[in-house]
Amino acid sequence: MLRWGTKKQKDRWLPPMALGEKIGAFALTEPDVGTDARSVRTNYKKTTEGYLINGHKKWISFGQIADFFLVIASRDREISAFIVGRHFKGVKIMPIKGMLASRASHIAEIELENVEVPKDNVLGRVGSAFDYIVTTALDNGRYSIAWAGVAVAQEALEQMVTYSRKRTQFNKKLHEFQLIRGMIADAATKTSAARALCLKAGQMRKEDHPDAIVETVIAKYFASQVANSVVRDALQVHGAKGCCNSYPVERLFREAKLLEIIEGTSQIHQEMIAKSALRKYFKNRTQDAISY
Ligand SMILES: Cc1cc2nc3c(=O)[nH]c(=O)nc-3n(C[C@H](O)[C@H](O)[C@H](O)COP(=O)(O)OP(=O)(O)OC[C@H]3O[C@@H](n4cnc5c(N)ncnc54)[C@H](O)[C@@H]3O)c2cc1C
Repeated sequence: MLRWGTKKQKDRWLPPMALGEKIGAFALTEPDVGTDARSVRTNYKKTTEGYLINGHKKWISFGQIADFFLVIASRDREISAFIVGRHFKGVKIMPIKGMLASRASHIAEIELENVEVPKDNVLGRVGSAFDYIVTTALDNGRYSIAWAGVAVAQEALEQMVTYSRKRTQFNKKLHEFQLIRGMIADAATKTSAARALCLKAGQMRKEDHPDAIVETVIAKYFASQVANSVVRDALQVHGAKGCCNSYPVERLFREAKLLEIIEGTSQIHQEMIAKSALRKYFKNRTQDAISY
């Protein structure tokens, strides 16, 4: 909204959001549409007053408590973004229970049945929301999840080190065993590398560098993997205690997994990175036939 909103929209929504008085949620995913986000089935049609929206959204973070949703909808694959208040007639919010992690995110499913939206609530240009609003939102989301990966890995590393210095087996502290030291070394190295990628992406974003988007994808892809690998080893170092929720690594283990799914899965990020690498690192741009 900060980037694509009208002055009126910004004045109305941004100050209360910045003050924490209003919460907004981003409603893209649907029960049958995830990674292939351009295929959203939630649809809109023009009316005399504005737009009429019908559809279904799922896995929406803060959906249970949000004051409004940025609903991404399609009309013959022309994607638009609508600001939909939670109290608009036809909006039904259903909490999703039983999440593996991210339990503080108040995740919800949202049904939209003949929801009337005034024309002032369209964010950006009608029909061009995917290439501008959706990609901007996902790019920002990926950057924050990349740092979440670093945070989870760092916390797991600290838990691993602390526990290994306290626990005694065979009359030795765990950290004295070479195999445990190997896990600590790998965890420290990977965490440091993930942080370096996030810092690099951050610097490039600040400079509006043309490769900032792909570097952010690289940081998110790597940091979310690092979080999982470091947490797995941290739990191993804790032995049985790591499997119990009295110890922080149990939660970190669950939280890490989600990082490989939200704001785009690792597989789709591999695809994006490969696409960029195939273009960027091709040495023989002018040579059509290469005989390998
Ligand atoms: C905690 C949490 C919070 C979320 N918050 C939000 C939110 O606020 N707003 C919102 O809109 N969505 C949200 N989501 C949804 C999230 O964005 C989707 O889960 C994600 O985009 C993946 O979609 P999907 O789960 O439908 O998986 P699918 O797209 O069905 O994918 C299933 C599997 O197939 C793989 N796959 C799919 N396509 C390809 C391909 N082309 N090549 C290779 N592999 C492929 C995927 O990588 C995955 O492993 C949230 C999800 C979670 C878990």
